[in-house]
Amino acid sequence: MQRLLILIFISILFSCKKNTVRFPNTHSLVINKQIELLRIAYVLALKDSIPEIYLPCKNDYYKKQIEPYLGFDQHPLVQTIRNGEVWSGDLPVLALAFDADFNIREGLDTAYLNYNYEWYGKNLDSVATLLADFKKEIQYQHSIKPDFTNFIDSIKTNQISQKLNAFFRTTNTSQLKIYFDPLNNITNKAITFLNDDKDNRHFLIGYFCDHPDTTSQQLQLEWDEDYRRIAIHENAHLYTDRLLDKYYDEELKKLIQQEKHKETYTNIDEIIVRGLTSKIIGHYYGENHGKEDIQNQPPASKIIYTLLDNYLETPEMEFEDIYKEFIVHLKSHFK
Ligand SMILES: [Zn+2]
Repeated sequence: MQRLLILIFISILFSCKKNTVRFPNTHSLVINKQIELLRIAYVLALKDSIPEIYLPCKNDYYKKQIEPYLGFDQHPLVQTIRNGEVWSGDLPVLALAFDADFNIREGLDTAYLNYNYEWYGKNLDSVATLLADFKKEIQYQHSIKPDFTNFIDSIKTNQISQKLNAFFRTTNTSQLKIYFDPLNNITNKAITFLNDDKDNRHFLIGYFCDHPDTTSQQLQLEWDEDYRRIAIHENAHLYTDRLLDKYYDEELKKLIQQEKHKETYTNIDEIIVRGLTSKIIGHYYGENHGKEDIQNQPPASKIIYTLLDNYLETPEMEFEDIYKEFIVHLKSHFK
């Protein structure tokens, strides 16, 4: 018996090792209970004031995860969100700043949190207390475990991580963790404030329907061209994030803040990532797909898209070098 156990143990060891060698990039997709808890408060706070097309898709998940809690829309957390100034659709990812017991995690990028989530980022203690109390008050239950095998398999067969690593010319392997947020019909978000290992990449994806009532009754996540673009786009943010911090300077900031650009789209990070996404799509899935995608992007993204031709034709060029050129060209664009 003992020998058999040792044999099993050895074979497990070997199979793990083999897997690590064969699949150096790992992918996972999870529904995070903490994010969903804050999402419930967010939906309760805004359900009567945001356009209907941004309300969660009304499927079986909605029935279990929102309907039982509709009566708690006067809870202090819900009221704080309703009366607060930050309404951005990615607010619920802030729940990742806490562990399961609502303690604030270590190593968070607090400057980023303060800037992006304002009051919430500056008052993590208060948010944690409100969230813990909300969980208790609503007797939060989350036992739904949908099967995401097909979606994950599609990411693997599409070799998204391998493609992006090759495009960005990095040999790092990466652990990609996707947080699926079924009550979010608003936004996707690259998560950059968790200061863990740089090879861990996290982003949030929403669940989108044209109208909350027209959705399928079952929560189903299927890989399609939209999710492919989202996976590339949010992933790309995680490659450019460090470079943005390094090269986005006062000069560029002053240029985009000029009165004449008041009506122009000037989010530099987004401009760059959108140009990149179109080029990556074109490079791997056919130029016409890339061209089609760039048509829908801000004019400045076209500059990025075009500059990337030179990068692709110059294999020895590092991504950081072309990023520096993006900044130079964007400065003259916004002069
Ligand atoms: Zn983006």
